[in-house]
Amino acid sequence: MATINWPEGKESAASFTFDVDAESAWLAMDPANAERPGVLSQAIYGPRVGVPLILEVLTKHAIKGSFFIPGINVELYPETVQSIIEAGHELGLHGYTHTPPARLSREEESDELDRAFDLLTGAGGTITGYRSPSWDVSPHTLDLLEAKGLVYASQFMDDFRPYRHQGRGLVELPVQWILDDWPHFAWYAGDSARTIRSTVEVEAIWKEEFDGMRVRGGSYILTMHPQVSGRPSRVALLDRMIEYVASHEDVWITTCAEIAAHVDEQLPREGQA
Ligand code: ZN
Repeated sequence: MATINWPEGKESAASFTFDVDAESAWLAMDPANAERPGVLSQAIYGPRVGVPLILEVLTKHAIKGSFFIPGINVELYPETVQSIIEAGHELGLHGYTHTPPARLSREEESDELDRAFDLLTGAGGTITGYRSPSWDVSPHTLDLLEAKGLVYASQFMDDFRPYRHQGRGLVELPVQWILDDWPHFAWYAGDSARTIRSTVEVEAIWKEEFDGMRVRGGSYILTMHPQVSGRPSRVALLDRMIEYVASHEDVWITTCAEIAAHVDEQLPREGQA
């Protein structure tokens, strides 16, 4: 695995990322949820209340985040998407309906990608990256992303440092469930296997993982959902996490697009020395 030389004075990187799924994740999980407004209300909280609170915290710390948005939410929540763009954050692809690619045919997956790409760029975003819904990639995903000319994906869990996919141009910014808010916080009726954790507990987990990744030159990609992390107690956690990460001057805090562009310059392509 090639070592990344981070920009001058930096020894590792970090990005705060947000998957603005809204109802799409619930409808992809079970179409019957369309008839359950109470269930969907917890999802609507994301674009309606969660995103504005998260944007406030990012502005307070003057950092740019990466927002992965299913194409359908550009149609359903144009004002939310505009507020993200106007604050200078990155938009990334996250499917059109939030159906995991592993459940789609190649043609359906390709159509979702095209549709979402057109919607996000049409809204004014500059799109270089993709994250598959539920991190459930199909055997065709990487081919389709390359054909679309994307620079990076952020969805695999096979490293904690960025890398280039073998035999491809595509850069990977790896993720992991440990750095996702959903497994720690999300709870809903019928999901009794889960318990809601306190922010204190999750803060400890996220900080420990950051400490380990930082000294090993990794890219710390924290994944949050506005419907989960937009709750008041968790917005306060985001505030504390940014403060903690930013207190380490050797960490480069930026968007996934910027990390990917840097890594793309750093790592050789196949056939190069
Ligand atoms: Zn999602």
